[in-house]
Order: sequence, then C-alpha cells, then structure tokens
Amino acid sequence: MGEVNLEHVSKRYEDVTAVDDMNLDIKDGEFVTLVGPSGCGKSTTLETIAGLTIPTDGTISIADREVTTLPPKDRGIAMVFQNIALFPHMDVYDNISFGLRLRNYDKDEVDRRVERAAEIVQLEGMLDRMPDEMSGGQRQRVAIARAIVREPDVFLMDEPLANLDAKLRVHMRTELQRLHKELDATIIYVTHDQAEAMTMSDRVAVINQGELQQFAPPLDCYNEPRNLFVAGFIGSPSMNLVEGVVDSNGLQTPDYHIEFDAGQFDGVSVDDRITMGVRPEDVYLVEDAESVAHPTSQIDARTDVLEPMGDEIFVYILTGEGETVGMDAEADDAHQLLMSVDPDKDIDTDKDVQIVLDRERIHLFDTDTGNAIAHGLEFTSVEPGPTSTEAEGDD
Ligand code: ADP
Repeated sequence: MGEVNLEHVSKRYEDVTAVDDMNLDIKDGEFVTLVGPSGCGKSTTLETIAGLTIPTDGTISIADREVTTLPPKDRGIAMVFQNIALFPHMDVYDNISFGLRLRNYDKDEVDRRVERAAEIVQLEGMLDRMPDEMSGGQRQRVAIARAIVREPDVFLMDEPLANLDAKLRVHMRTELQRLHKELDATIIYVTHDQAEAMTMSDRVAVINQGELQQFAPPLDCYNEPRNLFVAGFIGSPSMNLVEGVVDSNGLQTPDYHIEFDAGQFDGVSVDDRITMGVRPEDVYLVEDAESVAHPTSQIDARTDVLEPMGDEIFVYILTGEGETVGMDAEADDAHQLLMSVDPDKDIDTDKDVQIVLDRERIHLFDTDTGNAIAHGLEFTSVEPGPTSTEAEGDD
C-alpha cells in the first residue's frame, strides 16, 4: 500500500545540486524522518515525492506504481506543511472537509471522514470553532485532520511543528507517534531537529549536502554512526571528536594516547590520520568509572566550564594546554572533551582531575574520508556497509 521508493533521484538547479543520487526504500506503514542541516535537500526530496518538483534524474514509486512525473493529486499522498494555512472565515468542520467537498463527496461520507479524523486528532466537540478561537497546537491538528480525511497511503510532513513553542512541540511529538499507530499509514517527515527525528521515527534518513549519509533506526545512527557527519549531527550535545595519528600500539592525539591493536582494523596502518569519537556520557572521572569494564588509561585534565542541566552536569574538560574555550564553537577540539556527570557530583571549575573513556564506546573514523572504522575498541572492525539498515521487527 504505502511503500515509497526513490531510485537514484537527483534534483539539480542551475548551480546547485539540491538532491544527489538519493536511494530510499520506505516500507508500508513506516515512520521515516528526513533530517539534516538547513539547505541539505530535505524539503526538495519530500517535494519530489509529493510531485511538487520533478526530479532531474531517477524514479519515484509509491505503492509499486511509478509516479515520477504524475501530478500530486494522482499520487495517493497528503501533505502537512509548517505554515498552517487554514481558511479564517471557515469553522473547523469546513476547514477539514474543504477538499472533500471540492471533490463532490456525498454528505454522509464527508461526515464520516471528518468525525473519524477529528477523533484521531482529538478535536471532537470543536468542529464549530473558528481558527482564531484555537491555540497553535489545535490549529496544527486541524491541518493534520485535513490530511487524514483524504485517506492517503502516504503522509508527507514538512516541519509541521516548527512554528509551535518548545513545550507544545514536545507534546505534539507524542501525538504524532500516536497518530501514526492509529492510522497505520506511511509517514515521511522532514525536520532539521535531530531530537525530533530520534524520538519519533522507525528509521532516520540523515542527509548532508543533498547526499544520504545513513538510513537506519535512530539508535543505530546514535550507536554506530556510519561517518563523521552522522556522528556529529545525531546526539545532543554532540560526540567529542579528536584527531590523532596511528602509531604501533594505538592512536596518539595531541594530549593523550588511546591503546589498541591497529592491526585488527582492515586498511589501518601506522601514520594514518584517525579521528576518535566519544560521547559525553562515555567520559568518566576515574573515581566514577567502576561500572566501566574496559576503561582507557587515565588522562590528566582540568575542569573548565560547567553547565548544570538539572538531571546532569555537562563539564568541559581541558586535556592539554589548549585555550580556555567553554562553549566556543571555534575552539580547538583537540584539547577539549565534554563529559556528563551526575547532578549531585561535587565538581568545580579549574580543578585537576583524571578521566577515563569507555573503550567499548569509542568510535574511530578515517579523518580523510570520514568513514567509520570501528565502534568499540574491544571489538573487531566495521565491515564497510551500505547506507541503509532495515528497520527492525516490522516485517
Ligand atoms: P532543506 O529543506 O534541507 O533546508 P532544500 O531542499 O530546501 O533544503 O534546499 C536544498 C538546496 O537547494 C539549497 O541549497 C537551496 O537553496 C536549493 N534550492 C531549493 N529550491 C530551489 C530552487 N527552486 N531554485 C534554486 N535552488 C533551490
């Protein structure tokens, strides 16, 4: 029913390649999020699926039917956009049913569909309200109901929560997940917000500069990022990334040495430039590292800026003679690590500390190509794999 396939889809404008050889196989009923920084080609990809843009190359199929050049109305899709364009002079019922009435559906069928949609988005009892009597979240639900009544195989949503305030956005994420369960439809969702992508999706398509970087369940992208871009983009705060050079027994960074047998990794040899990645939750003060089965050797460091978050404290650690940098994005990453510690930890700025990293959670990337070499140093090398991992458990 709602399978969507993109094969070698590219969209080029005069001097910009907005989408570059995109391959996606989206299953019936899957919730897939296209995520990446602004300008990476997410919306253009969605527009090619919608039929609002015709790709320069490649083919698109929906429900096993090629639709590459078909107009939007013939594709079995419905779209929800960031800007909710409700008719201000129409009540909720008329707004939701507008498209159906335009297509001359009979009154009973319109009533049936509007009632079901209103129930799904929890707007029952509000059908006679006018848009200006509703909150932002309620208006967004009207827009979603308007898509639901069309009973499409595939919902396409382009940053539908972007204009809502932070609290409502988090609430609407849960609503969209519930909606997905109830509708049992395919949802393709665009956002630049990796947290939104991580929380809602069966699979996430991480895009950069028009190219698909990884297409996998959210936790796969988090735990086994395929390259440096995904490693840095997925997860907040970002993974620490420190460059080093391979020597006979590991990796020498400017400030410390990470031991491993470089020979175990195919294609890695002495003097290669490798970037070590470790997430803030995998950096420990020595005295807190008893749960870590395979810690690195101790690293001498000094605490810099603290950011108490309530449920954890982010601590910027300086491992060498680097500048005092704190949150400065331009900082030299080589001398800095961000770690997360318990909120009740007695920790201060400008104190000497010893830290260790969890070897099982250290990632290695080829600095030049950006490709992952290993996830976890106690294990063997990563097979160079495809960008796509199948969603688990929904076949
Ligand atoms: P995103 O949705 O990820 O922010 P877009 O898909 O909107 O990115 O845009 C991808 C790239 O294509 C950007 O560089 C953008 O400027 C360019 N682009 C998009 N639409 C057009 C257009 N109609 N003409 C020329 N360039 C475009």
